[in-house]
Amino acid sequence: MSLYSNHIELSIVVPLYNEAPNINKLFERLLWTLNSLNITYEIVCVDDGSRDKTLERLREYHFRHPEIKVVALSRNFGKEIALTAGIDHAQGRAVIPIDADLQDPPELIEQLMAKWREGYEVVYAKRRVRQGETWFKRFSANAFYRVIERLSSIAIPRDTGDFRLLDRRVVEALKQLPERTRFMKGLFAWVGFKQTYILYDRLPRYKGQTKWNYWKLWNFALDGITSFSLVPLKVWSYLGLILSLLAFAYASFLIARTLIFGIDVPGYASLMVTVLFIGGVQLISLGVIGEYLGRIYEEVKQRPLYLVRESHGFIDNSFNRES
Ligand code: UDP
Ligand code: MG
Repeated sequence: MSLYSNHIELSIVVPLYNEAPNINKLFERLLWTLNSLNITYEIVCVDDGSRDKTLERLREYHFRHPEIKVVALSRNFGKEIALTAGIDHAQGRAVIPIDADLQDPPELIEQLMAKWREGYEVVYAKRRVRQGETWFKRFSANAFYRVIERLSSIAIPRDTGDFRLLDRRVVEALKQLPERTRFMKGLFAWVGFKQTYILYDRLPRYKGQTKWNYWKLWNFALDGITSFSLVPLKVWSYLGLILSLLAFAYASFLIARTLIFGIDVPGYASLMVTVLFIGGVQLISLGVIGEYLGRIYEEVKQRPLYLVRESHGFIDNSFNRES
């Protein structure tokens, strides 16, 4: 850490993808809140390859307010990676990632800071209610948390997003996790440290639309499960064992019956059922192996997590991640 970084108490990290209509309101509220806190701060904005005027607006803001810093990625890398880029660039003694669509009220920063001053190293903001979400979204989110709770050994707090305060120590720990599949909620939980939470009401988006759809959410859930559990991979040996035992018992019975009573020709239905069942089970297990294998492939390629096209406001501009 350079001497310079010690001067900044708080870094706000904002990933932005096509958020131009939200920018004015976002900075208005952020700057107002931060200025009223009487601390030194920076706002690290990561433009995740937006195709609208987001980056232009960010540049304008940077020239007017030097504490607003800009990292522009070379293309759209997805929220998790944009967030990682922001956290890598942040220099504050505490870091708070926040969504650009004002779903996480900036006014809560004060409460997060208060808990941090009490000595907690991670203060996450837990949603009291999920507003403006369909029952299916709530149901699937619930199911996801239940599944991952059962399958993995780390406890991922329910109903929390990425809106939370991270102490510098936690940030340094996160930076040491080199994986490409960045399931941030899981990584935040994995690093441990002294954690606590505050409750808040998550509001609907200010403007624009969410970038998530069910297919993306499904893949996000798979990322989470495969990153934090080996159960789906291991379950097949046990299932196979049980099926083999059953098959052995049934085969013994069939052999004995044939020896005693002779050949019994009908059996098309049972044969088909067995073949289809075993075939299906084998394909599923292959698919699960494929999910893991694909992610291993991503890891071994060792590509950088993200590429920066331009950045404004940082002393040291060489931030491309190598490890
Ligand atoms: N985001 C991003 N890259 C993406 C998608 C989203 O940086 O590929 C940002 C987006 O601009 C916003 C935050 O991630 O600041 C949350 O996105 P969104 O509101 O779409 O997600 P939700 O709130 O529905 O979970
Ligand atoms: Mg949102």
